[in-house]
Amino acid sequence: MRKRKKLMQGFAMATAISALGFSTFYPGLSGSGVTGAQQLEGKLILTEESPSIVQLEVPDKKALEKLVELGIDLTHKVHPHGDGLEVDAVVTPSEIKKLAKYGIKVKDTLITEAQWNQRTAERNAAAKQESSIASAEDTLKVLRANHYTNQSDTFLYVEAKTSAGESASTVLTASWVENGVEKSATMQRFVDLGEYMYHWFELPVTAVPDSVTITSSLGGTASSSVSEWLGEDKKGSPKKHYVKDFVDHYMDPYELYERAEKLEKEFPDLVEIIEMPNKTNGYRRLAQATMGTTDSSAVVVSSKAWGHEGGNDINVQFKNPQQANHPLTVAADGENIVVELGTDSSGNVISTARQVAVALNAEADELVTASTYRGNAGSGTVEPGNAQLTDGLNAPDHISRDPQTVKAIRIGKHRDGSKPGVLGYAQEHAREWVTPLVTIETAERLLRNYAHDGETKQLVNNLDIFLVPSVNPDGATYSFYDYNWQRKNMTNHCGPELSDPGARHAWGVDLNRNHSVGSVFDGFVGASTNCSSAVYAGPEEHSEPESKNLVWLADQNPNIKFAMNIHSYGGYFMWSPGSYDPDRVTLPRPTAGQEAFYWAASNEILNDIQDHRGTVILPSRTGPIPDVLYSAAGNSADYLWYEKGIYAWNFEVGADLWDADAKRWRSVGFQPPFEEGHEEAMEFANGLIGLIKVAYSQSKDKQPPSTKALTENKATGPVEVTFETSEAATIYYTLDGSRPNFESPHLRPAGTREPAETLTIDETTTINWFAVDAAGNIEKNYNPFSNSNNFNSVKITIK
Ligand SMILES: [Zn+2]
Repeated sequence: MRKRKKLMQGFAMATAISALGFSTFYPGLSGSGVTGAQQLEGKLILTEESPSIVQLEVPDKKALEKLVELGIDLTHKVHPHGDGLEVDAVVTPSEIKKLAKYGIKVKDTLITEAQWNQRTAERNAAAKQESSIASAEDTLKVLRANHYTNQSDTFLYVEAKTSAGESASTVLTASWVENGVEKSATMQRFVDLGEYMYHWFELPVTAVPDSVTITSSLGGTASSSVSEWLGEDKKGSPKKHYVKDFVDHYMDPYELYERAEKLEKEFPDLVEIIEMPNKTNGYRRLAQATMGTTDSSAVVVSSKAWGHEGGNDINVQFKNPQQANHPLTVAADGENIVVELGTDSSGNVISTARQVAVALNAEADELVTASTYRGNAGSGTVEPGNAQLTDGLNAPDHISRDPQTVKAIRIGKHRDGSKPGVLGYAQEHAREWVTPLVTIETAERLLRNYAHDGETKQLVNNLDIFLVPSVNPDGATYSFYDYNWQRKNMTNHCGPELSDPGARHAWGVDLNRNHSVGSVFDGFVGASTNCSSAVYAGPEEHSEPESKNLVWLADQNPNIKFAMNIHSYGGYFMWSPGSYDPDRVTLPRPTAGQEAFYWAASNEILNDIQDHRGTVILPSRTGPIPDVLYSAAGNSADYLWYEKGIYAWNFEVGADLWDADAKRWRSVGFQPPFEEGHEEAMEFANGLIGLIKVAYSQSKDKQPPSTKALTENKATGPVEVTFETSEAATIYYTLDGSRPNFESPHLRPAGTREPAETLTIDETTTINWFAVDAAGNIEKNYNPFSNSNNFNSVKITIK
């Protein structure tokens, strides 16, 4: 026993831990991609490759489809350029070689792994600073508390400083008494060139208070008397007091949910946290090692227990018995498994990988399973060595490895389903770090402006707002702590042929391809049934708890009428249909009226985005998904639109930035420097609130549309009938004299990105029709389900 232990230590010293935390016999020899195995059949197991984001020059749409077919990890950015397309993709060097065969070349390397790692380091430092700030009570200083009167009103103006001002999550609230009534306002944080200056607010008052008290979310408090402002007269009317800017670093799911819960505690009348019923599969993995250096001699060993539940403690030793004619034996003692390899009459090791795998499965099956490498026959002779199994997960201990509850923030004065619902959900794709910040910033703005901003109060009082900061918390955690490029969730649906640790970054399901409308299982394009593809749709529709949660949320809350699926990057604004079949036949296009509503709402939302810093979401990146990007079979917005009748949009935050020196647009990437990520969060929070405003104005729309048919009533030949509508509305019509209803044909857009079609009438016909707007108001209050006849009618006589 003693001797054996000593021997093991010797092996342990020879064991190298690769940069990825996997112990193998030799450093750097754990395979990374799937490509490696194909190219290096029978050779050395591939060295882990370093992916980067590159801009590909793609000759045409057909080549783009080839990219999708090959399972290349495309970003959301595809731009027409000259005769071809520019497509940003996450690729490894061996994938780049493969693509060259299809005439697809790398034009530019945009972001390397080293840059991503730097971003992670920055974020971790910021998160650490934030938590150290949050753990100590702050001290407050009131810099000034003034009142002044100008031509329009009397105002209260206060500046105060907190000792914890570096953190955007430190919130200062001012309170005062005005004519005997308690008033309060959240103060706006003012940061100049990255340096915290103070918090402030300015609001009209009906009477000047004697004093004002400032309290901090960290517990600090300070008061000051209010004095008259003696400087020069303040001219003009002050800006509306509207507080924003509540995010100051990229937040992991743990921080997001913690922030959400803080809001629930602080605003119990306006917020509740919804815990969704389908727990994720967890940020957890089996502990594994690939033992061996070539495809044919390697044995993949996986723990039965999750890594954190004991798998990480298992040590496996392949030992040369140093004896002739020794049989292959396996001894499992506690967490140590010792395989004594078989030898021939000269004492040479003769056990093959297959034999060792079979022996492990037979003798150590309480602790591990074993297989040959990626389906290899395993006829190579096993090399002696030692491995500590590991799950390779690096998140700090406070991040649970257990299945996680996905949380939604529900905001509204009346959260009983009686008010129209708006849903914003983010981070289906793990690596899109800006997107959750859009939802948090939106939640904070709605709650912290509620008390003093009339418009915000209207929105919160009259709507039911659902925000899901991170649909995919497991994948997100993996992206923050293990592998920046992670897109999918963490569930491994690959069989034993692709379940070695070298393939671990390729596992998971694309949650924006796992839904049931226009899916790959229905034959649509833009998703894959290959478990390692970047757009893997899962083993079946809605196989994943994360997508089931979205279905559940929509089922539970039929009042939801609008949704925004928030992704990055590229600066797009899109809606259904989201996919097409191999003949490029899309899912049914919205009616002309619905399409007009999508465009009209876009106008409001895109203007709000532009208000922040002038970002223009280009017309070429606005519209139905396949018209501006690529087919995405089984995406969630299509599910919400076709299955639930929810107006469902998609944001791609992160529009290109103009590089004035190089005179060209530059991609921002999934994890831009926080300074840029912050700006994206601010502008798209504007956009999400823009959608909430659209929902509110639609809820107030009780005005039925009115329409007019523009035509000649008598003609000698065919006539074209055009319909004019007072607002975006769908027109249902009949040409056989019958009553029109919702089953009747409706006007369609004349073509892609075109207005409504015209009707061609070439024989004497009576057209009966009615219009319905996006709020469901029907022209002249006609009831298609009754016998009423107050639809529109026109007879066209053709002689
Ligand atoms: Zn995405």
